[in-house]
Amino acid sequence: MAVITRLGAVILVSIILLLLSPSSVISPGGLPPLPEPVIPVDGTYRRPEDVYCALDKLYETYETITPLESGLSQVKRLPIPAFRIGDGPCALLIMSGIHGDEWPVVGTVLYMAEQYARGMISGAPGETGAAPQEPGTRSGKTVGMSGALADAASLWRDIAVVLRGRSVVVVPVLNPDGLGTSRYNGRGVDLNRNFDAGWAKAIGKKGSAPESEAESKFLADLTRREKPDVVIAFHCFLDCVFWTYDQEGETLKRDEEVARSVIEAYGDLLQGGLQTSSPAESVHGGYKDWFIKEFRRPGITVEAPGRDRFGSLENMVKSDFWPRFQEASVRAGLNAVKTFLRYAQGGLQ
Ligand SMILES: [Zn+2]
Repeated sequence: MAVITRLGAVILVSIILLLLSPSSVISPGGLPPLPEPVIPVDGTYRRPEDVYCALDKLYETYETITPLESGLSQVKRLPIPAFRIGDGPCALLIMSGIHGDEWPVVGTVLYMAEQYARGMISGAPGETGAAPQEPGTRSGKTVGMSGALADAASLWRDIAVVLRGRSVVVVPVLNPDGLGTSRYNGRGVDLNRNFDAGWAKAIGKKGSAPESEAESKFLADLTRREKPDVVIAFHCFLDCVFWTYDQEGETLKRDEEVARSVIEAYGDLLQGGLQTSSPAESVHGGYKDWFIKEFRRPGITVEAPGRDRFGSLENMVKSDFWPRFQEASVRAGLNAVKTFLRYAQGGLQ
């Protein structure tokens, strides 16, 4: 009897300690506890040190996140961080901050990264760790989610299933020298015109040769090492999704479907929808163009809106739109991987 009582007391104390623990959130179904999130849905990262600080927290909090070797920026020699979520071949590479003045999407990529890390741990919902939420709700509050981005519970299951045995590689700020202040790198080059994709025809401040800048060289080298299935580059202002460069035939068909699965995640959030441009119309020299040309795999550019719809980027990140865009981006990355894998299993890579 005394033994049973002591055992009961131990169990009771354990339960109380678990409930009181500030550093963890209990997952449903006996899954491991989820840590408190460290990247808020509306977090802003306008200085390189803000990004480095957020990364320290991510690395401390998630065992599934591993830092990769950093690059160094061309002029200020600031670290260009990169990291991996999960183990196995790279299914998705997400990057932002190639244009330093498009700082909101640095927060997008960091938010996606943490949500993928959390989904990989538990397959449970991200923010609260509570039981799967009803479609259209978030932490108990309706946020007006639409279409395919509604089902939070299926999103978490999908992350766990789709990314199992695979990894996501993240470059949150490619251009730390320009972050928060300038589109260009420290010596005035537009890094998204500095890649070897029709570079001779590229217009603008494209540098002296493809990959002449330390930043673009770092990203190209990382991409050559990782050979991602899909790349998504995040930008601001144009309110749409770009997905074409020089694809043809079956590759074109597959990439269009991947792009459709991405825009489906955004629903009406991106008013410009899917945008194509012929090789003749292309601006050339872009990272996604280079990825498509070099790897014959889907390269997507997601363009958040900006001044035209919200007056300023500050207004955009303070609006109701922003958390919805962030959540949709998590789903968009996953949709792209799922669609690509479906084709890969059918023989076309
Ligand atoms: Zn841009």
